[in-house]
This record gives sequence, C-alpha cells and structure tokens, in this order.
Amino acid sequence: MSTYRKETVPIPVPSPITQPFWDATKEHRLLLQTCDSGHIFYYARSHCPNCLSSQLEWVEASGRGKLYSYTVAWREQSPDFAADVPYIIAAITLDEGPRMTSLLVETKPEDVEIDGAVELVWDDVSPEISMPYFRPVAKVGAA
Ligand SMILES: [Zn+2]
Repeated sequence: MSTYRKETVPIPVPSPITQPFWDATKEHRLLLQTCDSGHIFYYARSHCPNCLSSQLEWVEASGRGKLYSYTVAWREQSPDFAADVPYIIAAITLDEGPRMTSLLVETKPEDVEIDGAVELVWDDVSPEISMPYFRPVAKVGAA
C-alpha cells in the first residue's frame, strides 16, 4: 500500500540487471554499483559507464544527499498519474556521488530549496518493490 502515490501509478518491472536493486528495496536498502576501479554509479547497468568494466559489486548508499534540481508536475502525463499531481520530480546528488532521479515528498513546491539536504524515505508499493523517494531534512532549530 503506497504512502505517497495513488494505486493507479505503474510500478517498475525488474530486469535481470536491476533485480538485485529491487530485491534490496524490499529491505529498504538503496544499492549503488561500483566497479573494480572504484567508480560508483546509479542506475544499475551491466558495465561501468566510466571505464566499461564488467567487474561490478553492489554497495549500500547512505540515503543522504542534496537536491540538485527539480521540476513540478502540475499536469499528469497519463491518466495513471492524475490523482498524484502536483508532485515534485527531483534530481538528487547522493552523498556517494551519483545523481538519482526520484520524487521529493513531504514538502510543497513553494518550500523546495535547491542544494537543500534530503534523506531517503521508502514507499512500499507492492510486496516485491519499495520505491526510494526523498524528503527534505528538517533544519536544526526550525520551528
Ligand atoms: Zn569503472
């Protein structure tokens, strides 16, 4: 049962390459890939986008990052998303380095801060898949 989205929103279908990533989401762990030269990247691929190595491992991300950019979807792209608008599509720079497209939740478009600290939250959209979204980190001393 989704916390942040309506039931009509389609959920990802894992491929052989992305299956470990989605399996980890069930345990609320965000996985990135790293190659034998230490390049770390997201999204899941068969080869490192930097050096083309196929010697890859999964590493767990901290779930913390900063908002690089965002846009607000004021109109749905398809009827499946009609109940969700407006929603904030965000580019997050993870503390580990890779940039990840996700949703920014638990905030309003007028309150969004570029470069603001964000943290991972999970949305259990099916028994097999949880979606990694982000929310602003509450500022220390904020009312
Ligand atoms: Zn590499």
